[in-house]
This record gives sequence, C-alpha cells and structure tokens, in this order.
Amino acid sequence: HADAAMYLAKEKGRNNFQFFTSEMNAHAFERMTMETWLRKALERQEFALHYQPQVDIGSHRIVGMEALLRWNQPDVGMIPPVQFIPVAEDTGLIVPIGEWVLLEACSQNKAWQDEGLPHLRVAVNMSGRQFRQKNLVEVISSILKKTGLEPECLELEITESIAMVNADETVTKLHALKAMGIRISMDDFGTGHSSLSYLKQFPIDTLKIDKSFVQDLTRDSTDNTIAAAIAAMARGLKMKIITEGVETEEQLTCLKGMQQGDVQGYYFSHPLPPGEFAALLRGGQPLGEMTPDAGKA
Ligand code: C2E
Ligand code: MG
Ligand code: MG
Ligand code: MG
Repeated sequence: HADAAMYLAKEKGRNNFQFFTSEMNAHAFERMTMETWLRKALERQEFALHYQPQVDIGSHRIVGMEALLRWNQPDVGMIPPVQFIPVAEDTGLIVPIGEWVLLEACSQNKAWQDEGLPHLRVAVNMSGRQFRQKNLVEVISSILKKTGLEPECLELEITESIAMVNADETVTKLHALKAMGIRISMDDFGTGHSSLSYLKQFPIDTLKIDKSFVQDLTRDSTDNTIAAAIAAMARGLKMKIITEGVETEEQLTCLKGMQQGDVQGYYFSHPLPPGEFAALLRGGQPLGEMTPDAGKA
C-alpha cells in the first residue's frame, strides 16, 4: 500500500488515475481502491455535474445541454467518467449515483428556468444497469414531480448496446418513458451494433452522431459519407440529429452542408460548471467563432 500511496501522491493533480504496485496485481488493486472510494463519494458530495451546450447548427444558439458527471476525489483529484463509470456499473453503485445525477440535472434545469432563463432540455446519460432497473419509470416520474421540471425538458441518452441487450423490453420501457413526455436520444450512434429493424421500433427522438465520425471529417472523407448517411436516415425516420465532438470550423462547415439539427463540441464550448454555463445562458449570445448564418435565409 505504501508504494501505491506514494504513487498516488505523485500523481495528485494530474488528470489520470493509474498506479502500480510491485506486490499486487495492479488492476485488482486499482479496482478495489476505486470501489472503496466510490462507496463514500456520494455521501461526501464529491460528485458534480458539468453542462455542455448543444447549439442549433444554423443560429449557434443554445437549445439544450448535456449533463456530464465529474468526480473530484480528494486524494487524487479529477477521475474521468470512462474510468469510474464501469466500476460503478459492476458494483451496482451506478444506481444511486445515476439517481443523484437525474435529480441534480432536473433541479438545476428547473432553477435556471425559475430564474427566467429559456426552457431548455437537459440530457442525462443512462448506464445499462440503471436503464434496466425495474422501477426506472417510477424513479424518473417522482424526480420530475419533486423538482417540478416539465418532462419535455428532460432527455435520456441511451446507447445502442444498452438498447439491444433485451430489445423487446427496451421497446416497452421506452414507450412508457415517452408516455410521460420525456425525450429519448440514442448516444454514440454508429459505434454499437443496433439492428435497424429495432431502431424503427424504438420511440427515439434524436440520434447523436458519434464523435468518431467527426474527427476526420472533410468534404470527401469516408466519415463524410457516413455522417451524411446517418443524417439522411434520421430524416427518413423523423428523428432529430445531434452531432457531437465538433472541434473545428472545417468540421462544422462540412456538417452544415449535409444536415440540419444540433451540434455539440469543444468548438462551441467545453462542458462547464453550472456557474459558467449559467453565465453563457444569461449572455444569450450565439456560440463559436464562425458567423452564424441564421439571418441569411
Ligand atoms: P458521452 O455521453 O458520449 O459524452 C460526450 C463526451 O465527449 C464527454 O466526455 C464530453 O466531455 C466529450 N466531448 C464533448 N465535446 C467534445 C469534443 O469536441 N471533442 C472531444 N474529443 N470530446 C468531446 P466525458 O465528460 O469525459 O464523458 C465520457 C462518457 O462518460 C460519456 O460519453 C458518457 O458515456 C459517460 N458519462 C458521463 N456522465 C455520465 C453520467 O452521468 N452517467 C452515465 N451513466 N455515464 C456518464
Ligand atoms: Mg452522452
Ligand atoms: Mg456515451
Ligand atoms: Mg456520445
């Protein structure tokens, strides 16, 4: 443990969580430590949500936001979600953590609305285990009641892999959620293996084109063909599109040539702590450097 503690101390402040010991299997130790920490994180209030704007591709105005979980572990600093979410999922801790995320996102959104800011949707990521909870519909409905947020202002993000685990159950569950009035989006679309025949049956409002198709986006790239095809399919299925991971003007220009809908990415804004996000909302300005083409048409 001494070795590990030293390494942890050295790593403190850095943005990654990795350490090794000579005597122990590093992976097992890492999991064990992470699990111990994770068990205390909720009651010690170590979690926070950051919010990333989603903007209309034409006007660059904020139309929604994605809530992204942040864990500030006191001994090592920020631990990214890709590292702790799988552990939370395996241990079942994702269920209470996920409920906290839902409650926090809904009450924050409602607080902004009560302040007089525009009524926007807030997107919350679902994990597989959380989505499969028997009482998910009741949990969400009680959170909406408790916070007073309109269901239309909550969007749940699920992935293809989550949806396809038991596709028939997914269809039923999504219909129950839709009946409450909340919105559903398919995250990381194109990276999992969903069956198109099921996609047709899922009551999905929005396809989120995964950022891996945006990274190398130029006018005549393969990714351009893929992104355009997903956008065309979404149009045909009467679904909206959100493209994530937009970082450059070139990528944005490419997307503008092929799709309507919304975009999200570092080009417009990184995920922000609530105070900074609220400041953006109050400013009411279009985001990004490129002049929006809203007034042109
Ligand atoms: P995701 O849902 O696909 O979220 C988008 C990720 O891309 C976020 O990473 C975001 O910060 C990042 N991102 C946004 N714009 C850009 C960009 O322009 N370029 C690049 N390279 N990346 C961009 P983050 O916050 O580290 O989250 C990673 C994943 O962790 C999320 O992927 C989601 O699957 C999961 N996650 C985050 N918060 C939660 C949560 O509250 N619950 C659950 N179950 N999963 C969550
Ligand atoms: Mg997401
Ligand atoms: Mg995801
Ligand atoms: Mg995604």
